[in-house]
Amino acid sequence: MRPLDGKTALITGASAPKGIGRAIALRLARDGAAVVVTDLGGAIELDGHIHSRTDLLDQLVSEIEGSGGRAKSLQLDVTSVTDIDACFTTILSTFDRLDILVNNAGSLSGSDNFLSTTPDQWRISFDVNLLGPMMLAQAAIPHMRDQGGGRIINIGSTGSLGAEPGFGAYTAMKHGLVGLTKTIAAEFGEYGVLCNTVCPGFIATDMHTAANTRLAQENSISVSEMKQRRYANVAVRDAGLPEDVANAVAYLAGPQANYVTGINLPVTGGVPFGI
Ligand code: NAP
Repeated sequence: MRPLDGKTALITGASAPKGIGRAIALRLARDGAAVVVTDLGGAIELDGHIHSRTDLLDQLVSEIEGSGGRAKSLQLDVTSVTDIDACFTTILSTFDRLDILVNNAGSLSGSDNFLSTTPDQWRISFDVNLLGPMMLAQAAIPHMRDQGGGRIINIGSTGSLGAEPGFGAYTAMKHGLVGLTKTIAAEFGEYGVLCNTVCPGFIATDMHTAANTRLAQENSISVSEMKQRRYANVAVRDAGLPEDVANAVAYLAGPQANYVTGINLPVTGGVPFGI
């Protein structure tokens, strides 16, 4: 018997081949959950090639099914009420239940020089990083409550716990995510709905590479110098892997975390959180 046998999990922002969402999907599937992997539609450029997100999600589904797991891919823009409604209709008609929601989709919009951040960039950051998780939680909680419980895991950041220069909107929204987590934990614990935040530090994904590249340009240094500078304060002196974050999510989704709610779990290699 695996820890998540019989459970269904929804993971947002899961198409990126090097992303945290994909690693979470693979890990929860390995633990026995049927996983619904979702992301925006359209195409993305990776290593100079254009890829359809639907194809990337379908490849992930094939990989999970090839290992004996159950998975389904769906298009889900976390800022779209229509997409959220359609997604829940499909999940409940296909799997009959939803036990685990992982709010993983994130955006670095408006994470730049604070004085040049525009209201529109700030709004995109709010919509993706905070409003989307709130709307998904509102959609999930009634089902979880009626089933006798569930888990909501919000992917925050060290930007949920402190600030470093150049990430204004992201830091504000990721701090807000902690408030969302604590609110859900406080209001729905009595129904068995547990909610926690996982706070990754520097994790070697495309989002992290993009941040290193931008900061290197802004500071007129090489990317490897920028990495050295950023990792100097990390106790283990390196970036982590998406799988490191997935392990923390698996713990919070599973029976070993039956009495854990409202926490922020840093997965950072020992990084100070800044101011
Ligand atoms: P990623 O590869 O960029 O994955 C995030 C995914 O969310 C991308 O596919 C992204 O699409 C998608 N997304 C953006 N807007 C969306 C929307 N409206 N609806 C649905 N999906 C949307 O980044 P990652 O590094 O794996 O990050 C995953 C999570 O970990 C994020 O919440 C991030 O803030 C957090 N995190 C990452 C790090 C790190 O070092 N990597 C550190 C701390 C926290 P686009 O590619 O189009 O944007």
